[in-house]
Amino acid sequence: MVCFQLTQHGTVFALDTRNTHGTLQYGASSLSPRDSLIGWRWFNHKIPCDEAIWKRLVPITSRCHLCFKNEETFDHLFLASDFTQKIWKMILEIFNHRWEGFSSADLLFSWWQRKKCVTPLPKLWQLVLVITISAIWKSRNKSCFDGIKLTC
Ligand SMILES: [Zn+2]
Repeated sequence: MVCFQLTQHGTVFALDTRNTHGTLQYGASSLSPRDSLIGWRWFNHKIPCDEAIWKRLVPITSRCHLCFKNEETFDHLFLASDFTQKIWKMILEIFNHRWEGFSSADLLFSWWQRKKCVTPLPKLWQLVLVITISAIWKSRNKSCFDGIKLTC
């Protein structure tokens, strides 16, 4: 089971691919409808981050709610923020991959697809991409709307 839990002390990640009987378990049904929707929005660049708002000519002051160092663009939020990069590094270490840094979501997705062939548990690998994206977005929203300071 892949677990992401946001606490007041930060985001806690746990990966357990065995059930109580010690057998591997994973599958597409592990995605919640909410995670699926966030994944769909991400793949279609429909995440309502600050960049999406200012592209509609709505004047706002933007700040990344994860690192508080940059404006909140789609690519910064999901790829470049210090907080986000720590999350990707932790996740990829579990699968024995290294975070190489990506300049766009399309490049990350292409890389992720290529690694599917050489990664154990390829179905889980696909889920982890969406679950990680969803966890980043939910963390951003907790920081933005609930004022919870995040640490990694
Ligand atoms: Zn940031």
